Amino acid sequence: MVLPVSIIGANVLRQVAKDIDKDYPKLKEFIDDLFETMYDSDGVGLAAPQVNKSIRLFVVDASPMEEEDPELKDFKKVFINAHITERSGDIISMEEGCLSIPGIREEVKRETKIRIEYYDENWEFHDEYFEGMAARVIQHEYDHLDGILFTDKVSPLTKRLLKGKLRDISRGKFSAHYKVRLGDGRVA
Ligand SMILES: [Zn+2]
Repeated sequence: MVLPVSIIGANVLRQVAKDIDKDYPKLKEFIDDLFETMYDSDGVGLAAPQVNKSIRLFVVDASPMEEEDPELKDFKKVFINAHITERSGDIISMEEGCLSIPGIREEVKRETKIRIEYYDENWEFHDEYFEGMAARVIQHEYDHLDGILFTDKVSPLTKRLLKGKLRDISRGKFSAHYKVRLGDGRVA
């Protein structure tokens, strides 16, 4: 089922999400819904808070970016109870966008290498390193679990320039080709 994507201004996007247990109700269906919603909106990642659930879970499928980075060929994964334990490597600036902030793309600086602990959809534990584009996609989605949006990480000048636009977006002044949920609960 395609779920509405929460838009900047929604409280859920600012909460620190909680770990879940193995008996979390209807987890498999929820993961399926996350993937379906992500594909429907042409995203390469989607975090649970973006569909109004404050739990530490996100999915990624960056395989469509294979042409830009061959290492992304099979980069389709589920991250449950994700915790980044190390960030290292160079700090690189790259343009990012977010389904929760339609129409905005800005340069964001991030480390090129991370170490992350998580469980997959079969509750297998992983403690892994990721680099390059994979590390970037993970860090963007991971930030959603901590209530952080990429527009929090832009330069002070860009932040000032964005202020009015972000306010407009939170009030519903934007166009998106996918189903959305505004901060006041309106679904469009
Ligand atoms: Zn995002």
